[in-house]
Amino acid sequence: SPGLYIVATPIGNLGDLSQRAAQVLANADVIAVEDSRVTAKLLQHIGVKRSMTPYHDHNAEAVRPGLVARMGGEVVALVSDAGTPLISDPGYKLVRDARAAGHLVVTVPGPCAAVAALTLAGLPTDRFLFLGFLPPKAGARATAIAEVAAVRATLILYESGPRLAATLAALAEGLGDREAGVAREITKRFEECVTGTLSDLAARYADTPPKGEIVVIVAPPGEPAPASEEDADTALREALTRLPVSKA
Ligand code: SAM
Repeated sequence: SPGLYIVATPIGNLGDLSQRAAQVLANADVIAVEDSRVTAKLLQHIGVKRSMTPYHDHNAEAVRPGLVARMGGEVVALVSDAGTPLISDPGYKLVRDARAAGHLVVTVPGPCAAVAALTLAGLPTDRFLFLGFLPPKAGARATAIAEVAAVRATLILYESGPRLAATLAALAEGLGDREAGVAREITKRFEECVTGTLSDLAARYADTPPKGEIVVIVAPPGEPAPASEEDADTALREALTRLPVSKA
């Protein structure tokens, strides 16, 4: 049916393209892409030729109304260069406007570097906060880190190799020296996930910035002493058993 289809694509390993993603791309009247060369390779891999139109930060405002109009009668697919569209990538305003116009919006979920990294690091997964890319300038970065210092959740950040060590050091400074993981080249030939404290990892990468694509995972703040009534009762009862018993 006509509408907007949000299609996740691989983050390295082409085998991760889902059957449904391939099907939707093969049937799309137009595919909105970040970089047509990147998507052309993916389409070639699945033996499909479709019309592509660029949709990125620099032209989105101008081309969005036209794309939304086409959703009334055509299948419009949105992909990004890698992973899930809208996640540190363009697309949310396209979805917003598609909804406002009453068009069908369908998601074809798949790889996302943030979630993939979370599954590699061995840190708590019950609550997590995705921060995307931190601001590159030191001051703005420190502010962004301070804003989340008290959040009781595992943090997920995207970062580039050259900036990794400085970001890890800033995280150690602003959050305390928590456990962390650096996941690199996920689903690719040199996939790895190195874990350690933030300061260890900062030291490790200080002289040799790693190559490739990177996700940083940071543990939640340490458990504070729980202050519930039940805990206080238990502690009191235990303390009483240790008191010397007076002989009457
Ligand atoms: N929309 C994408 C997703 O779903 O993951 C993210 C797009 S964002 C512009 C690109 C960043 O994602 C990279 O700079 C890197 O931090 C992270 N990333 C993408 N692919 C990755 C991979 N294979 N391994 C590690 N990180 C990756």
